[in-house]
Amino acid sequence: KTFKSLGLCDQLVEAVAKLDWQNPTPIQVEAIPHALEGKDLIGLAQTGSGKTAAFALPILQALIDSPHAFFACVLAPTRELAIQISEQFEALGYEFGAKSAVLVGGVDMVQQTIMLAKRPHIIVATPGRLMDHVSNTKGFSLRTLKYLVLDEADRLLNEDFEKTLDDILKVIPRERRTYLFSATMTKKVKKLQRACLRNPVKIEV
Ligand code: AMP
Repeated sequence: KTFKSLGLCDQLVEAVAKLDWQNPTPIQVEAIPHALEGKDLIGLAQTGSGKTAAFALPILQALIDSPHAFFACVLAPTRELAIQISEQFEALGYEFGAKSAVLVGGVDMVQQTIMLAKRPHIIVATPGRLMDHVSNTKGFSLRTLKYLVLDEADRLLNEDFEKTLDDILKVIPRERRTYLFSATMTKKVKKLQRACLRNPVKIEV
């Protein structure tokens, strides 16, 4: 399989070539065509499988088709993971100016508010800090979101973000695509899945 055969546009095929990625990984082969068809996804996958690009590429393709600010939000359990995810969006979206912002704890709120004023397309956040901004940052809302990603959902739930995730789900549009990735399928993950996803395609690699 090639990236092109998965249905990705020329700009993204060029972007992966620039990163020297020869072929899609198994999760990318499984996930990307369904995502491009507009399906919700559940991916059972470990770090290192290429899962980040499996959700980033379809989101970037949709962004190219209809670019606007606050287009997608990715929730991650830790600041390190959030930063890595943002870096992949930036690397893949650099050529067409995709901008992302990282909202994680332990960093000055004001600095993050300045990032948000630049109206990024993609927000990568830990749940607590995201809600801090939703509640306190003037002019910032998630009402225009088209995509929500829950990355490492099992860890998100372990970190006690359950209540905060509920609050986030209340302030984002129901009309959206949702991708949930997890290393394990626990009871809590299943519950979150039922609350967030619509007729998802399940992908296991
Ligand atoms: P992830 O599982 O998303 O954390 O990705 C693990 C690493 O694999 C990241 O450093 C990516 O840059 C890299 N990667 C993702 N997809 C590919 C691919 N198709 N070919 C080569 N490297 C990749």
